[in-house]
Amino acid sequence: MTSKISKSIIFISTVAVLLTIILTTVLLNEYSTKQSFIGLSQQAMVIGKSVETNGMNYLESTDFGDTFRVTWISADGTVIFDSVADEKSLDNHADRKEIHEALENGSGNSMRYSGTLMQSALNCAERLSDGTVLRVSTVHLSILAHMMNMTGPLVLVIVGISLLSVLVSDKVSKKIVQPINSINPDRPLISKTYKELEPLLNKLNTQNSRVRRQMEELTENRMQFEQIVANISEGIILTDPKLNIITLNEGSEKLLCVDNIQVGQSVYTLNSSDEFRKCILDALGGMRSECMLRTKNGEREIIASPARRIDMVCGLVIFVLDVTEKYRLEEMRREFTANVSHELKTPLTTIYGISDMLMGNMVMAEDVAQFGADIHYEAERLISLINDTISLSKLDEGIRTDNTAEIDVYELASEILERLELSAEEKEISTSVSGEHIIVNADRLILNDIIYNLCDNGIKYNKQGGKLNVNISANRKNAVITVSDTGKGIPEEHIGRIFERFYRVDKSRSDKVKGTGLGLSIVKHSVMQTGGTVDVKSETDKGTVFTVEIPIQKA
Ligand code: ATP
Ligand code: MG
Repeated sequence: MTSKISKSIIFISTVAVLLTIILTTVLLNEYSTKQSFIGLSQQAMVIGKSVETNGMNYLESTDFGDTFRVTWISADGTVIFDSVADEKSLDNHADRKEIHEALENGSGNSMRYSGTLMQSALNCAERLSDGTVLRVSTVHLSILAHMMNMTGPLVLVIVGISLLSVLVSDKVSKKIVQPINSINPDRPLISKTYKELEPLLNKLNTQNSRVRRQMEELTENRMQFEQIVANISEGIILTDPKLNIITLNEGSEKLLCVDNIQVGQSVYTLNSSDEFRKCILDALGGMRSECMLRTKNGEREIIASPARRIDMVCGLVIFVLDVTEKYRLEEMRREFTANVSHELKTPLTTIYGISDMLMGNMVMAEDVAQFGADIHYEAERLISLINDTISLSKLDEGIRTDNTAEIDVYELASEILERLELSAEEKEISTSVSGEHIIVNADRLILNDIIYNLCDNGIKYNKQGGKLNVNISANRKNAVITVSDTGKGIPEEHIGRIFERFYRVDKSRSDKVKGTGLGLSIVKHSVMQTGGTVDVKSETDKGTVFTVEIPIQKA
């Protein structure tokens, strides 16, 4: 800007000087021409008077010098006398402007320009009393000639003024620009500057405030987003179209069991398995894709989604989810279905076989009762299996019956042992309930399932003539139910698995004892539903102790 102003000043001042010189020259030239004509006209009148008085004698005896040229012309335009040239060599002057005017009006003027000499000839003619015309001419320099004569001084003046304007313009332009330069764009209103700039500065100030506000909002939003992303346990990874990581949270590193992954690294540094690569490439091709990965800490589900900008994939959003529990439950469900089908098939095959034989009259009359008893036994097994399965599915679905009531656990345990009296008697097992009458706030059916299954096992897996005791006590918050038997016990290596569905210790031996292996699963889930705990201690050939703790007040 400074240089532009400087250049403008130099240009304007140079043009101004040139125009001034030209105008002055033109005006001076006009003035001097006018003065010359006046002088010339007076001269013509004076010489004319002398010619009127003395005629040709005066003209021939007078030296007019180099300045003036005097010509005497007759009324028909013939040159009678000329102070410079031989009059005979001169043509008729009647059509000359000044002569023509003088003959018509008494006096006439003319100016003739000579391009080659760059000068003008001024002519003044006066009609004399005898009708002849006397003309006085002089040479007058043209404007260009004047200017040519003054070239030296003019150039000096122009150069001088140009130099001066160069010096001045720099300072002037800096002074003009200084208030503009001193504007603080961040705080435009505190700057002292030109009044003309005030609307612009006000606008700048308003826009500054708006931009500041928007920046604050953006920063806050970004911080919120980063905080959320950083703190969620799921993994989130953003990549560019070249599959370099733009953002990743701690969750992704944890879930994929990697560390020190830096922004800018390839996404394959997180996992380089074929499944992961395929999933990423499918997403890059524009398809949302999923895959499962197995890490040392569990199962992970990867969901890769393409991010698009005007139909082009401009990056990927990758989610990493911990699906270990979901995977485990699904596997359990699959196993459970397979087991249930198997367990249903065995009694049904027996029933089908026996009924087939009965229909074909292949059974002797004395065996019919035994076959009937077999069908009854298998049907009982089926009913018990179906009941257990229903209980478990209810527990699995988390169907919570709100049948909580105040239950005396001691009373309930006594009732259950009464119901199991027949089985106990079969094995001559003495049963007993000890402890206190603890009242808990719980679902009666759930509590029944827990105590019944534990007591049922305590009898089933007990020795002939053994003992079964249920003790009821309480600690600070829980009722403690201890079911101890003097049975064969559970070998240590099986203890960790007895709560699994369909798990039975020593299947061949257990087969002699009725059961499906679901009882303890029901116990475990029921206890979990009350918010309590179950523990087992066992010694082979000595006995087993199950300890269940149930919150006295329902959570
Ligand atoms: P169900 O209870 O469904 O009729 P089950 O008794 O075989 O069948 P669970 O109650 O789940 O199944 O018990 C699982 C296994 O744990 C049993 O098969 C048995 O081998 C072992 N077990 C359970 N309780 C005892 C116990 N008190 N003494 C010795 N072994 C036991
Ligand atoms: Mg059982």
